[in-house]
Amino acid sequence: MSTTSPQKRQHVKKICHFCKSGAKYVDYKDYPLMKSHLDYFGNIRKRFHTGTCLRHQKMLKTAIERARFMGMLAYRK
Ligand SMILES: [Zn+2]
Repeated sequence: MSTTSPQKRQHVKKICHFCKSGAKYVDYKDYPLMKSHLDYFGNIRKRFHTGTCLRHQKMLKTAIERARFMGMLAYRK
């Protein structure tokens, strides 16, 4: 790696998982999907990290809250 040409990190726009799959709503019963949007401590991962759009992030929040209420996901670790 040469020092004369510093490598710039290219910003790659993340695509919303739900938009890509054409989901009209977020299913709270989809455990692996819910789990993938939570961090180690059980908090909902930010849009910045997952690339989820605002519309689907709001739907996801509701879905995760429902899953927590049903006892499928933990409120905190
Ligand atoms: Zn989306």
